[in-house]
Amino acid sequence: MSVFHDEVEIEDFEYDEDTETYYFPCPCGDRFAITKEDLENGEEVATCPSCSLIVKVIYDKDLFQVGEIIEAPSHAKLEVAQS
Ligand SMILES: [Zn+2]
Repeated sequence: MSVFHDEVEIEDFEYDEDTETYYFPCPCGDRFAITKEDLENGEEVATCPSCSLIVKVIYDKDLFQVGEIIEAPSHAKLEVAQS
C-alpha cells in the first residue's frame, strides 16, 4: 500500500548523466531519485533517500524501452560505370 506524495512528469526531473539518475526536489530538502534503468524496467516510483515520501513518475514507457538500435552499416557502394 503506497500513497504517492505527488505525480511528476519525467520532463520535470533533472537528469544526471554521470549516475544516469533522474532527480526531483523533495520537500524534506533531499531529492527523489529514479534511475534510467528503473524507467527501462517499467518502474514508475521515485523514492527519497532521506524520508518516506515517494512520487509517481509520469513518462512514456515507449521512450525508455530497452531495445538495441542497430545501425545500418554505411557501406557506400560505388558503382563504376564502364564505358
Ligand atoms: Zn524527502
